[in-house]
Parts: sequence; structure tokens; C-alpha cells
Amino acid sequence: MEQHSSNFIRTIITEDLESGKRDHVITRFPPEPNGYLHIGHAKSIVINFGLADDFNGKTNLRFDDTNPLKEDQEYVDSIKEDVEWLGYEWDDLRYASDYFEEMYNRAVLLIKKGKAYVDDLTAEEMREYRGTLTEPGKESPYRNRSIEENLDLFEKMRKGEFENGSKVLRAKIDMASPNLNLRDPALYRVSHASHHNTGDKWCIYPMYDFAHPLEDAIEGITHSLCTTEFEDHRPLYEWVVRECEMEHQPQQIEFGRLNISNTVMSKRKLKQLVDEGFVDGWDDPRLPTISGLRRKGYTPEAIRDFIGEIGVSKGSGVVDSAMLEHFAREDLKMKAPRTMGVLKPLKVVITNYPEGEVEWLDAEINPENPEMGTRKIPFSREIYVEQEDFMENPPKKYFRLFPGNEVRLKHAYFIKCEEVIKDENGEVIELRCTYDQETKSGSGFTGRKVKGTLHWVDATHAIPAEFRLYEPLILDTEEEEEETEGKTFLDYVNKNSLEIVDGFIEPNMKDVKAQDKFQFFRHGYFNVDPKHTTEEKPVFNRIVSLKSSFKLK
Ligand code: ATP
Ligand code: MG
Repeated sequence: MEQHSSNFIRTIITEDLESGKRDHVITRFPPEPNGYLHIGHAKSIVINFGLADDFNGKTNLRFDDTNPLKEDQEYVDSIKEDVEWLGYEWDDLRYASDYFEEMYNRAVLLIKKGKAYVDDLTAEEMREYRGTLTEPGKESPYRNRSIEENLDLFEKMRKGEFENGSKVLRAKIDMASPNLNLRDPALYRVSHASHHNTGDKWCIYPMYDFAHPLEDAIEGITHSLCTTEFEDHRPLYEWVVRECEMEHQPQQIEFGRLNISNTVMSKRKLKQLVDEGFVDGWDDPRLPTISGLRRKGYTPEAIRDFIGEIGVSKGSGVVDSAMLEHFAREDLKMKAPRTMGVLKPLKVVITNYPEGEVEWLDAEINPENPEMGTRKIPFSREIYVEQEDFMENPPKKYFRLFPGNEVRLKHAYFIKCEEVIKDENGEVIELRCTYDQETKSGSGFTGRKVKGTLHWVDATHAIPAEFRLYEPLILDTEEEEEETEGKTFLDYVNKNSLEIVDGFIEPNMKDVKAQDKFQFFRHGYFNVDPKHTTEEKPVFNRIVSLKSSFKLK
């Protein structure tokens, strides 16, 4: 799609095609269905689908469903929806679980070649035997079981004759390898658990490091793109493909993980926030999940442009969340209709405006995109303005409403604050103003100037609406700080990440639908929330405010 700039993976693929090592490209996006996708996955999606697309290749969507305890059909469905929503079409839809029989047979082949054995060590013992980066590991006392015994035990593992955790199948590689991943890694474990796809057919499940290379080889994946934490696993990946005598040999290439400031980006942590009620489900607009970003109001274009801009490097620095917001503004600037909404209303009575009269004023829908046309907004004797647009005792350079000051109402008239009405507690509850008929917007009036322009809505026609304003979910922290003080990320959850206010919108918005997007004058871009919006009352999620300190280099 959009992302065409050169990068090291593109260079490798180009060379492979030119040298004749490959004559086509097949990639895959291989999520484990143990949670909803997040924006980090979007990076992997854009890279995998984007690159294959550029080389007229194919991309499979493959569910890496080898751990039934954590996986669920709900996640499978949400992942499909999110990939499609981002604008990608997979070629084949695959499940690792479709290959369980073949994986089992390959494991039997390894046993027959003397390259795998059944081990009875406990998980604890295995960790001890494994050694450290500076010390070689120790061989398990079960390492030299005969091929016959191993074949028999592995078959019994499959038949369900052993308890969870009592036996594993391990590769026989090298307990002294400087690469810990090659110290006889586990290939299969016993787990008496029902699988969302295969039901109770299996009670042994393959480990990621064994399953993944086989899945890639079976599907004829040419370039298996993953994140850099798998770099040290690459020798094992290649060992599995070679020793299992797979006909096709995929190549693993690693790129940097995407991290974004002020949020968490791991399904495990996201699930914790959801399960423990910190947020309103996986699609809470504060989460960096694809479904959360969608509900907040991000478009697929904004997300793809953002991923395109950060590029495909090996490094995995933390990207400022302001950069993601920048792309939301850029994308919505031309698309989103302009409108006015008052979030925290203060009533204004225009004392010299005739009672009972209503004017319908013309306002452009999007000054950046005149083709979007105009809208009508009513104006009458009573309007609402924003509470924070009035100050009784303003500081210098305050150009909004205060006693005696005149301001412009966007698309309407100049009004002047004449009187302040308070309740018994001294709270300002109403302003009395006068308007000047000569100053009507569009009339060409040049008699005098005012410095402040305020948004407003007509009080008799306004529609009540709820606005949801967001702040970052996670307060600024240093990763090390988090660990040393024995705290977890939950200690840094921002308690003020959501503010809900009740205000008013223009009457021409009475038919807004879920996911419609608007720019509210001076407040930013908002999306109609699909979950909380009702017939009576629309709910608007703020996507981003209008201003940002962020500048693209
Ligand atoms: P998580 O820790 O969030 O669960 P994961 O890597 O375990 O992530 P998978 O479902 O295995 O999640 O990921 C599918 C693909 O997405 C993998 O190829 C993985 O490398 C990639 N991916 C996951 N997180 C990121 C990220 N933050 N940046 C880039 N790619 C990512
Ligand atoms: Mg994972």
C-alpha cells in the first residue's frame, strides 16, 4: 500500500529475486489468538502485507494457535475484523492447529533420527540443568533413552497417559551451546486442555520454536518476518526446518518492535487492564488496540500513514504518542465536517435580540475543503457559550468574555458582556449581553475589530450530547524505575485518563451515526462512540485536540 520507501527487508527480498534464490514472495501475519491486536501488530501487518504486495506476492493470515489455555474464538474473530479494517486482504487463512498431525509426524522423524527425546525432568529441574550464559548446561539423565523407548513414550504422551508437565519432548542439540536456545529446547508439552479448533483431539501441544518454522515451511513462506527478540532463536528455527527435512526453506528476518510512549503494548498487560476493569473492554478508546483506536476515531489511513512514517528499522525505540496523533489530524483535516459544540455550557441571554425570533445562518462545512458545502445554524435570543470563555476578573491579554468586553461569535455577531448573573453561592450562571446587528458574519462589516472568536450553540435548538475527553492511560515512567521499586505498570495507570462532560451540539447533527467524525471548533476532532451513543444522546470521543507541539522532521 502506501509504504514504498526503501528498507533493509525490501533490499533482501530484491536481492533474493535477482539472484534467483527465490522466484516469488509469500509472507504471513501470524498472531496468536490470545488477545486483540494492537498498533504494534499494525506495524507487522503493514510490513508483511505491504512488502508482499509490492512484489506481487501473497500474504497468509495464520493463527498461531498452539496454546489452547490462552486462546479463544473471540480473539480469532476480532483479529480478522481488524486486519480487514486496516485495509488488507489475506490470501490464505490458516491455523497452526491444522498442521498438528504433520507436526507430530515430524517430531516422530526427529526421534527416529536420534534428534529428539522424551524427558522426565520437572520444569524446575530443566531450568537448573540449562546452565547460564557463562556456564554450560548439564545433560538430562533421560537424554540417552533408546529410539524405541522414545517412540513409545511420545506415543503415550499423545494418547493421554501422562499428566500435565510430567513429560516433554526435547530436541537433542547441544547442552553446552553458547546459545541457550539450542540447549535441548522443548518441542512438545503435555496439556490436557480443550482447543478452540481441535477440541479434545490433542493433549500434547507443540512449542512455539518448533511449530513456527514448520508452519512457515508448510505454507511455503519465503520471508518470515518477525521482531528482534527472535534473533537468537534463528539458529533453532533453521535447525528445525533442516532436521525435520522440510522441502521448503523459509528465511527468518527480524525487525524492531514498535513501542509508543504513555501506553502498554503487550497483550498480556492489555488483558490485565481489561480483566481488572481499568478500562471499558478491549476496544476502550484509551487502549492502543486496533479496536480501541477505531472506537476513538482513528481511520485506517491515519494508522497506515503513521506506520509508513516510522519505517522498518531493526531498532525498537519508543515513538512519541504525539506522532500518532499528528497523523489523525492530518487525515481528518480534509474529511471531517466542522461544527460547534459547547462542552461545559454557560447561558447567555442577548437582551436586545427580539424575543421569539430565529435566524438561520450559513456556515461552511469545511473551509479546507469547500466542496463539502455549507450548513445552517440557528441563532436566537438565548445561546450557550463555554464556561471557560468567561472570566469576571481576567488577566491581561484575555480576549474572551468579561464585563464590558466585546467578542465575535463564530458565523454570527459581535456580542458585548453587559451583566453577570450569579446564584446564591456566587457561581456565575448566566451572562446578559447585547449584540450589534451591523456585525453579522459575512456582511463585510469593518467598523471595528475584536480579538476573541468564540464558539456557541443556540439554546432553544441545541441537542444535548456527551463528550468524552481522554488523557494518556499510563503516566510517564522509566522501565527500570518500574522494576527496581517493585511496582508494576498498574501503579502508573492514570486515574484521570477519562473525563465525561455533558454539553450541547448544533441541531443539524441530530442524525449522527456511530463512527461519524467531526471537528468541533476549537476543541478538536471527535468520533461518535459506537458503544454508548443512544437515540436520545450522542456520545463523542475526542480523538485529538487541534494543537500539537509535534513536528515531523
Ligand atoms: P504480544 O507480546 O503483544 O502478545 P506477540 O509478539 O506475542 O505480542 P503475536 O500474536 O505473536 O504477539 O504477534 C503476531 C506478530 O506481530 C508477530 O510476528 C510479532 O512479531 C508481531 N508483533 C507483535 N507486537 C509487535 C510490536 N510491538 N511491533 C511490531 N511487531 C509486533
Ligand atoms: Mg505472544
